[in-house]
Amino acid sequence: MAGIYIHIPFCRTKCRYCDFYSVASPVLKEPILEALHRELALRRGEVREPVRTLYIGGGTPTIYSPGEIQGLIDRVVALYPTELDEITVEANPDDLTDTMLAQLRQTAVNRLSIGIQSFDDAALRLFNRRHTGQQGWEAVRRAQEYGFENLSIDLIYGIPGASDEQWESDLRQALALGVPHLSAYHLTLEPRTTLGRWAAQGKIAPVSEEVSERQYEILERLTGEAGYLHYEISNFARPGYRARHNSSYWDGTPYLGIGPAAHSFDGHVRRWNTADNRDYLNELSSGGYFEKEQLSILDRFNETLMTRLRTAEGLRWEELERAFPAEMIQALRRSAARYLASGLLVDEGGALRIPSAFFLRSDAVIADLFMI
Ligand code: SF4
Repeated sequence: MAGIYIHIPFCRTKCRYCDFYSVASPVLKEPILEALHRELALRRGEVREPVRTLYIGGGTPTIYSPGEIQGLIDRVVALYPTELDEITVEANPDDLTDTMLAQLRQTAVNRLSIGIQSFDDAALRLFNRRHTGQQGWEAVRRAQEYGFENLSIDLIYGIPGASDEQWESDLRQALALGVPHLSAYHLTLEPRTTLGRWAAQGKIAPVSEEVSERQYEILERLTGEAGYLHYEISNFARPGYRARHNSSYWDGTPYLGIGPAAHSFDGHVRRWNTADNRDYLNELSSGGYFEKEQLSILDRFNETLMTRLRTAEGLRWEELERAFPAEMIQALRRSAARYLASGLLVDEGGALRIPSAFFLRSDAVIADLFMI
């Protein structure tokens, strides 16, 4: 099975924390849509297995009409072997009007991922979001009323100046909406973003480790009490509602990334399209619109550690044994020993995993296990 991701590189305005490639001008909207169709056609030979998931993200996919979104879906179905059971579109609350939702219901889209980020107006202003907390809440309710039951919402914690109580209130509001999937990200002050620059200038300060840990504990506790499975560092789902497309990034399923800045991976080769709309348009025909890298055995080993240890299932030894030489696995067992002794790793049921209580520290653990 395989997945296809289509990146829509436009937003109405830029959020101050966001590091994804998108531009706030729709000037190239039409040529980019046409180029997305062309890239889908150009790459049809790259996927032989059935495409099970399609994820249209960005950026802001709803910059295009539901008819144009359905046009992309139709193109995928016409060109690729498909057994699509999950078609997700990302959307922002300000775009989810009655008209948009009614029309989206007429398309094949069966899952929405809504960028709520916070219900707190001060945080939303800091982020330069285009909606208030109330509007975010109403957008989710409206989507439910229009029959979108498979919904995910994004939230951000670790926000400078926001209290633990504020975070708890955000989470309680999200859980009260009864959405079956939740993604909760700790804010990262990326250097290329406005908030990153503000942090470098001392205008805002990142939250302390204690705050991060306290807010993470709140997240673990409230989602656990509400019956969500914490199945990946930032992702929580009610039974049966894991994000199938995103899961393919963590379990090694091949995926094709279409559009500016989109990444693709087939298990051996990683490739990434140029993160520039004009370059993408100019170079699509000549084939110069992407770079690629053949992963070495060491890269693949580290990639396997990094993706599997982000999940609740962890890293299955038998998967490693099938793909890598015994010496590499023995070296991993040796370097894992001290984390097993401290409880940051557990080895049970044939898999090595990080208990979810320690997911916040997973980057450091995984980096230390990397083979160099
Ligand atoms: S967070 Fe979403 S809406 Fe905001 S700039 Fe990034 S991609 Fe666009």
